[in-house]
Amino acid sequence: MSQPHVVVIGGGFAGLSAGRVLRNTNCRVTLLDRRNHHVFQPLLYQVATATLSPGDIAAPIRWILRKARNVRVLLAEATRIDVAARQVHLSDGSPIAYDFLVVGTGASHTYFGHNEWGIHAQGLKTLEDALEMRRRLLLAFERAERESDPARQRELLTFVLVGGGPTGVELAGTLAEIARQTLRDEFRSIDTSAARASDSACWRFSGLKKSWVNDTRASVWNRSGLASWNRRNSSLVGSTMRNVSPMRNVNFCASRRRTIVSF
Ligand SMILES: Cc1cc2nc3c(=O)[nH]c(=O)nc-3n(C[C@H](O)[C@H](O)[C@H](O)COP(=O)(O)OP(=O)(O)OC[C@H]3O[C@@H](n4cnc5c(N)ncnc54)[C@H](O)[C@@H]3O)c2cc1C
Repeated sequence: MSQPHVVVIGGGFAGLSAGRVLRNTNCRVTLLDRRNHHVFQPLLYQVATATLSPGDIAAPIRWILRKARNVRVLLAEATRIDVAARQVHLSDGSPIAYDFLVVGTGASHTYFGHNEWGIHAQGLKTLEDALEMRRRLLLAFERAERESDPARQRELLTFVLVGGGPTGVELAGTLAEIARQTLRDEFRSIDTSAARASDSACWRFSGLKKSWVNDTRASVWNRSGLASWNRRNSSLVGSTMRNVSPMRNVNFCASRRRTIVSF
């Protein structure tokens, strides 16, 4: 094999690492991603809470790998891998042959088999997710400002975070900061600091996370688990709780599911 062709699917942390390790080696490398940019996911929550702009946490993959002369970057989506024929099939139907294949397609959030929750509960894995979450969060404050019914105002200013991992906890903390500091002087009909974040931790909360969340005045439904979504009044129903009051702003930070490329 004179110059092996390595195909890397995905320009996330894994794909970029592969590209960097293989640069200036005797390989021809093709890195393909369905987006033209790499996203630094650990800071997505800051875009979702309007603390950072999308451009602050994303960079073109082509630019990142510009000095790797043997690496070619393609904007393309892999839909199927034919292991026997050593080919990656793209969404436009064209195949790319490889000698070696690196799959770094990441993960997506999961709704535990309830994909219908996706309409109501925003996940946080991509820039698009972060911008949609940001839109919903900021609109909730705007709607509350125009609302005269205190119960409905309270409902609008209650944010539910499903998942008590780092993302859920960081979101709770930043939401508290926004509500108590950033937006404090900007509204006239609402006290933004009265906003509540509820974190439905489906798994065990560590002591550290618990104290952090308590500090943000978030309430935690520890190990409540989620059983269903009550469509009639837009409420989440926990498996160990009879009911949870209506809450419109639900954000999914729970668990992960591997991104599937079929073989
Ligand atoms: C909100 C959030 C906060 C996080 N915070 C931390 C943290 O603080 N510390 C930490 O260590 N980790 C953190 N993580 C986890 C970390 O970001 C991930 O573990 C890491 O990004 C995984 O890298 P990856 O390359 O496997 O996947 P990704 O970074 O997800 O990259 C996958 C790439 O593959 C592309 N792709 C997917 N499917 C296809 C396809 N079919 N065809 C072509 N391209 C495709 C995607 O467009 C993407 O660019 C966080 C994650 C999130 C979502």
